[in-house]
Amino acid sequence: MQPTTLAVHAGPDRPGHAPPIELSTTWRFDDPALAAASVDAQAHGGPPVGTPVYGRLHNPTVAGFERALAALEGAPEAVAFASGMAALTACLLAARERGDHVVALRPLYGGSDHLLGSGLCGLGLRVATADTLAEAVDGDTALVLLETPANPTLALADIEAAVAAARGVPLVVDSTFATPVLQNPLRHGATMALHSATKFIGGHGDALGGVVACDAAWAAALRRVRVATGGCLHPLAGYMLHRGLATLPLRVHAAQDNARVLARRLAAHPAVARVRYPELPGGDPLGLLGRQLRGGGAVLSFELDDRHPGPDAWLRALRLVSPAVSLGAVDTLAQIPAALTHRVVPPEDRAASGLSDSLIRLSVGIEDVEDLWADLRRGLEAAERHAAG
Ligand SMILES: *Cc1c(COP(=O)(O)O)cnc(C)c1O
Repeated sequence: MQPTTLAVHAGPDRPGHAPPIELSTTWRFDDPALAAASVDAQAHGGPPVGTPVYGRLHNPTVAGFERALAALEGAPEAVAFASGMAALTACLLAARERGDHVVALRPLYGGSDHLLGSGLCGLGLRVATADTLAEAVDGDTALVLLETPANPTLALADIEAAVAAARGVPLVVDSTFATPVLQNPLRHGATMALHSATKFIGGHGDALGGVVACDAAWAAALRRVRVATGGCLHPLAGYMLHRGLATLPLRVHAAQDNARVLARRLAAHPAVARVRYPELPGGDPLGLLGRQLRGGGAVLSFELDDRHPGPDAWLRALRLVSPAVSLGAVDTLAQIPAALTHRVVPPEDRAASGLSDSLIRLSVGIEDVEDLWADLRRGLEAAERHAAG
């Protein structure tokens, strides 16, 4: 089946037209021995036996979302969490016994960079570039992590090259910006594809969630962590994220069409110094479009010409676009990563990631592109007036 069909139909067989929302946190058991066997199986990351027993161990609504997401990623299984950060935490904890540090490529989402740097999950951090990755990985490396396209600079990483450099160490690809519509990391050899489902998958800015697509063995390891630590996705959010999948291809393509137009127009505007978007000249130095990534996506970032004092005047002039963090929603959002989403990353690390203090990140929605452009231009004109004094 084609992705657009899968997006609508993947998930559980169901008698009703919409899947049921199972809110119960506990299940009656008639056979104590069977319930005990179910607890034993799930404590090790296996499926429930007869009864789920308890909502932290299993939820059928969430399991339906997981099956649908796995189908879209072309993965055997998927495991959902309360947020993208809960998903990343589970990946780190599940890999902990394999080594003592993570090797990561920057840039990363600010929260991910912060989590890795904090050592909270008991793993050290080695930062590498695509060129130094093979050198950085050794017998004590628990996990390799990269984002492509990366938040917020839209830098692209070659997944197959990273798999080769990792030499058998599991590779997690944060594919939040691409969604399963534009990229399937497991097809390129990645061990796990991680999504902040809060973003494009939900798509409406009203549900937090995270999900990891992987093979059965990693899924069991991640479920074991989820059972033990409790970063569970709420079943109502599971329902909403599952519903979001049906329109994911439509939304991603519509927003990407808008982003393409806006990226080109911004790049041609005299007040803009640089636009970062994979489809613009220079945006895909490794030639990954077509080979790994099926389109530039719906997020871009840009910097105003340095005659301008900074992006605040631009942000304040916006009427339609919301100044807000997060991304991947049906409406367009703009923010300054160094000031908000990436402020937890030390300034020198931000600079090393190619993230300047004046970079603006724009998550493009599905509004009419001319309405969006009129709003962005209003901001650019305000910035130009500011520069003119
Ligand atoms: C938002 C985001 C995360 C974190 O996800 P939450 O759902 O906010 O916990 C991780 N990675 C990327 C690329 C993100 O954009």
